[in-house]
Order: sequence, then structure tokens, then C-alpha cells
Amino acid sequence: MTAERAADDLLAGVPTGVLIDGVWRDARGGARIGVEDPSTGKVLLEVADGDAADMVAALDAAAAAQASWAATSPRDRAEILRRAFDEVVRRADDFAWLISTEMGKPLAESAGEVRYAAEFLRWFSEEAPRISGSWRRSPEGTSRLLTMKAPVGPTLMITPWNFPLAMATRKVAPAVAAGCTMVLKPSELTPLTSLLFADLLQQAGLPAGVLNVVTTSRAGEATLPLLGDPRLRKLTFTGSTAVGRILLSAASEQVLRTSMELGGNAPLLVFDDADLDVAVQGALDAKMRNVGQACTAANRLLVHESVAEEFSRRLSAAMSGLVVGPGVEPGVQVGPLIDARAVDKAERLVDAARAEGGEVLTGGHAVPGDGHFFEPTVLRAPATAAFVQEEIFGPIAPIGTFAETDEAVALANSSSYGLASYVFSRDLSRVLDVVERLEFGMVGVNQGVISNAAAPFGGIKQSGLGREGGAEGIEEYLETKYVGLAP
Ligand code: NAD
Repeated sequence: MTAERAADDLLAGVPTGVLIDGVWRDARGGARIGVEDPSTGKVLLEVADGDAADMVAALDAAAAAQASWAATSPRDRAEILRRAFDEVVRRADDFAWLISTEMGKPLAESAGEVRYAAEFLRWFSEEAPRISGSWRRSPEGTSRLLTMKAPVGPTLMITPWNFPLAMATRKVAPAVAAGCTMVLKPSELTPLTSLLFADLLQQAGLPAGVLNVVTTSRAGEATLPLLGDPRLRKLTFTGSTAVGRILLSAASEQVLRTSMELGGNAPLLVFDDADLDVAVQGALDAKMRNVGQACTAANRLLVHESVAEEFSRRLSAAMSGLVVGPGVEPGVQVGPLIDARAVDKAERLVDAARAEGGEVLTGGHAVPGDGHFFEPTVLRAPATAAFVQEEIFGPIAPIGTFAETDEAVALANSSSYGLASYVFSRDLSRVLDVVERLEFGMVGVNQGVISNAAAPFGGIKQSGLGREGGAEGIEEYLETKYVGLAP
């Protein structure tokens, strides 16, 4: 079979409707959205464009399924997740191809996302049977204090386009484990992966109505009625801080449980005792994963002044050697940005860097031709430049310098974001001191990739609320009920 034919067959197997109560159907209004390949601008498939009525129908199904789903045994829920894990692993190449095609990242990176995404299914299949409570005597000894866990209830899940499979499994897997029903709204830019995953979950035995999926081009308008509906009990959102703020405000009406995985502005600190080979590789990993379109992407490289020259030279050499092209082509290391707006933003940020005294060491331009490509870019700029306060979300690595550890920590913390951060140093005392003072939810030490299904992922300050993954992840979908028991 030719590669083109295999691709057509795979696309033909992606459901394109809304999934409500176990049935794929068209959107009520009949509207459709074209999903584009960002490497070519070509429409891959059209999917149903749901509206508020579709969302409410999805919540009807989720609310109706909640009680019976909560009553299923943890082992049964675990088995569904385990079967889904096996199936995602079996179809890893299909998922990787689909991610690269609708989102743009190179195939090797998509394969990495599939492994990461699948791990949430396996991890939470193992967590489901371990949901537990506690028993203790009251301090005065007069009664027993019991705690038990119950699923939060129907949950609205809103996911971004940059990790179309992992952002879905990181929410869906703990919700399944906890016994919550769901309405998933994937990004309208990359819905295909989520739609295929939802279909796979049905086949793995997830009962009708537990997971409902509606893609929409009018996210605000379509989801608002759900946030005001008393049957909804939780909102979990991954996306920009700007949209997170709007949603938090809307969620306050019903005092919804909320989990917010928002934007980041990760500092990457390189001290004078760092192993520079490790630091350059770590910076490449932290900067270029997903072409810089990751909430964990290194946004500000802060390098000790004594090694800044050498670090800049090595990083520029590595960045300028990266192969840019469509993610599905062999050997490509850097794919396109998601859309034309992202390219405009990268150009604007390079201009802003120059205006603030920055010097471009390599790259700095959009790549002419089809698709939304931008050159891997390294620039030197003052560590206090205003443009680095913004989330770059592109392949631009701005290098600033510092002289003292206190200065490095102060610069790192001078952001309203607090998601990921990175430290490169071989001095354990320094590492511990800096790690304890960094105001970030996550710190990578001598490594540029920190995401792991077994670790609590999340941010502080305006980067969010709550944690996904790890032992903490399932708690986001559980309520604690306390029972006071007099003997
Ligand atoms: P976005 O905020 O524009 O959109 C995220 C999702 O929200 C999409 O599904 C979108 O359709 C939906 N949405 C937009 N407006 C809405 C509204 N008014 N009401 C309801 N839903 C709405 O973000 P994006 O561009 O898709 O993703 C990039 C952002 O996501 C970056 O800021 C990145 O840092 C962040 N992100 C964070 C994490 C994390 O775990 N902290 C992970 C990935 C991405």
C-alpha cells in the first residue's frame, strides 16, 4: 500500500461527528469545520461544528450516566483504561501520524507524545483500585472520624491544540479512574486525534454517555450554558491564561471545582559550573519541543556571564543545524507553527528584541513558501527585556546574562507565570538552594524535559490551579466526604 493510500485509509477511520451518549452524529445545525495541515494549509477533513445545543445534549448524556458510572467497580474502570492503553500502544504509529499531520510536529516527537499520553491511561488504571479513605479517633477520643472519596461528577474538559492526545488522556484517564462522566471539547485546530481516541475508548468498553465529545468553532458561546448548568460539577481547562481567566470567572457562578493548566514563561538557568554539553542539549530540548509551542518551553535562557559567550555559540550552532520541514517527512526536526498568526507573533517578537538592544545570532525570519514555518532562532538580549515577559510559543531562544545567584533567582521569579523552570549546575548545594527559592510548580535539574505521567504537573501564580498526573492527579476528580461516627 502506498503511503498516500495508508494516510487516506487512516483519515477515513477518524469519526467526524459529535459523540453523544455513545453515538456519533452530525452537529444539530449541520455546520462543519475544516481541519488543516499546518505544513501545507490543505484541509485534511471536515468535522462537525457543534453549538450550545450539542453541548447541552452532551451534558444531558453525561448527567444521565453519572450515577451508574460512579457505581461501577474501580477494577472495571481500571480494565477499560488498561485496554485503552494497550490499544493506543498498538496503534501508536497511526496516532503519531495523525498528530504530525494536524498539528505539525515531527513524527519522532509525535511518537514521544503518544508514549507520554498512553502512560496516563496505564498510570490511572493502576490508581483506580487505590482510591481510599481514612479512619482515625477524634483527639478527645469521643468519636471516630472517617473520610471517604466520591467522584466529583460531570466534568467539562477543554483542551488546547499543542498536544492533542496527551492533553486529552491527562484529563480523561483520571476522570475515568475516579468515576466521573465527561464532556470533552478538543481544540478546533486539532480535533482529529481526540476524536479517534474517543472512538478507541468506546471500543475499549467505556459505557455510552461517560465520555461525550463536541468540537466547536464558537468555544465561548457553546460552553457558557454548561458553566451555568447545575448538573455540571467541574471544569478542567488547559490553555492560555487569558481564556483561563474568563472561564474561572464564568465558573464562579456555580462555584465549580476547577483545574487550570495555563500558560508558562519558563526560565532556564545555566550556572558557571554547569556541564555545557548537558546545558545546551537541555536548552534545545526545553526550547524546541513542539517548535517551542509548549507551556513548559524555555522562554528565558539566563546564563552566567562567564559562560554566556560559549553557551550562545554552541546553542546557535545546534539550532542552525536543525532540519525544518513538514513533520511527516523523514529527518525533519522542526515542523511548522500552528498558523499564520503564530508566525506573525514570532516576527513581532524578534523585532521587539531588536528594539530592546537584542542581537540575532541565528535565524530570525519566517521561511517563505507554503506552511507556517519559522527559522530556529537564537538571540542575545538584556535579561530584563520586556518582550520576554510574554509567552513566546515559537522557536526563539533569547539569552540573557546574570552575575550572581541571587540575581538569577530574582530574574527567574520576575514573572506572573509559575509553571516550569530549569536549572543547570553540578553544585548540589547551589541546586538545592535555587530549587527551593524558584516560584514555579516544576523544576527540571540538568534536564530539559520534565513531563512524566507519574509526576504532578502544574503551575503556581497565573500558570494555574491543581495538578495533573502523579498521585495528585486523581484527587482533582474526587471529593472528600467526612463522616463523624459516635460509638
Ligand atoms: P487557548 O486558550 O486559545 O485555547 C485553549 C482551548 O480553549 C481551546 O480548545 C479553545 O477552543 C478553547 N477556548 C478558547 N476560548 C474559549 C472560551 N471563551 N470559552 C471556552 N473555551 C475557549 O490556548 P491554545 O492556543 O489552544 O493553547 C496554547 C496555550 O495553552 C498556551 O498559553 C500554553 O501555555 C497553554 N498550555 C498549557 C498547558 C499546561 O499544562 N499548563 C499545556 C498545554 C498548553
